[in-house]
Amino acid sequence: MRTDVLGVGFDNLTLAEAGAAGAALVEAGGFHYAVTPNPEFLLTARKDPAFRQALAQADLVLADGVGVLHAAKILGRPMKERVPGIEFAQRLMAWMSAHGKRLFLLGAKPGVAELAAARLKSRYPGLIICGTHDGYFKEDEPVVEAIRQAAADVVFVCLGAPKQELWMVKNGPASGARLMVGLGGSLDVFAGVVERAPEAFQKIGMEWLYRLLKEPQRFGRMARLPLVLVYALGSRIGGK
Ligand code: UDP
Repeated sequence: MRTDVLGVGFDNLTLAEAGAAGAALVEAGGFHYAVTPNPEFLLTARKDPAFRQALAQADLVLADGVGVLHAAKILGRPMKERVPGIEFAQRLMAWMSAHGKRLFLLGAKPGVAELAAARLKSRYPGLIICGTHDGYFKEDEPVVEAIRQAAADVVFVCLGAPKQELWMVKNGPASGARLMVGLGGSLDVFAGVVERAPEAFQKIGMEWLYRLLKEPQRFGRMARLPLVLVYALGSRIGGK
């Protein structure tokens, strides 16, 4: 059973368990997709039924963001640990590297996925990066075809939410891939274009603060996020 946090059901897994579940989905046959909702997703999902459904139907729903864990705790449904999408992706790539699996990188500005591919290849020698495509295309068809031609096992779909989740639902089955993972700005991090917060910030659950300091233009977007805790509190008091 999933852990409900403001209408989104999460798989209550550790990072290690999530990595193993991802690998199992690649081996399972058929198409699967994974999502990594953070507090911003929860707010969007409240107002967007198609997005809500895309999250609910995912094969793996991982709690990315300390805000999701705080909200879960307030609701009286504490979860094991935070599973940042980027760390899930790293686990999966380590496994793929050991098993000679094929990864397609989709998303970010032109050139970023290629840069990420070059860096990932040296970090995960056995990993086959079978194709890349930027995230600013008009038609889905040629991109789906490129993934098919590349015979990708896994696709990292990095178009930002909710675009990437809706894209996976619509185009995943025709792509021939076994697993798609919605990973937001991860390709920018893998490419070295954007830095992840230092470990000290990650450990104390303040990665969001580091990001805000580095990209102050995000303030408008991030200012809404404490709302998640307010809604969780409201829901707890209301006995839901
Ligand atoms: N992006 C894209 N196509 C679009 C819109 C966004 O490829 O049409 C990319 C963007 O370049 C960035 C990522 O999607 O690499 C989203 O980044 P953001 O930081 O907004 O996502 P988050 O990690 O916060 O979910």
